[in-house]
Amino acid sequence: MSNRLPWRLGIGFDAHCLKKGRKLMLGGTEIPAAYGLAGHSDADVLLHALIDGLLGALALPDIGQLFPDTDPAYRNADSRQLLKTVLRMVRQKGYRLLQLDSILVTDRTKLAPHIPEIRQNLACLLKVPENCIGIKAKTTEGTRLALPEKSISALVTVLLAAVK
Ligand code: MG
Repeated sequence: MSNRLPWRLGIGFDAHCLKKGRKLMLGGTEIPAAYGLAGHSDADVLLHALIDGLLGALALPDIGQLFPDTDPAYRNADSRQLLKTVLRMVRQKGYRLLQLDSILVTDRTKLAPHIPEIRQNLACLLKVPENCIGIKAKTTEGTRLALPEKSISALVTVLLAAVK
């Protein structure tokens, strides 16, 4: 049976804790905020979930296996560079990203005003039209799902198409 599918779907999830004094990077965009995200790399939760979605769509090992947080090479790594590596892998496998949809979850920081800029920057990074990039900012209405007042989490779905 051929596994050369015309389309492939992927899903990625990530979460990082908020920390005072850290830069807040989301989708390759620096967001002005009192709290950033803690992590070994720049902790860009949206790009990390996107990377896992891309890898998952191709049934490849996940971001933690590809870029281990025990490797000093990835200390304070710019997640845009990690994304470029993964986009190269997608091309090498004969696919391209058509579309993504995403949800950012936090109760601490108002993200909605920053979505247009994040979408613009992602469109540039990914070389896909802005109307193929969905980004929604959600709170949890006090349900405390994943300690949202102390973290930001991201869920991303992707659709890849085989390149002819
Ligand atoms: Mg992460």
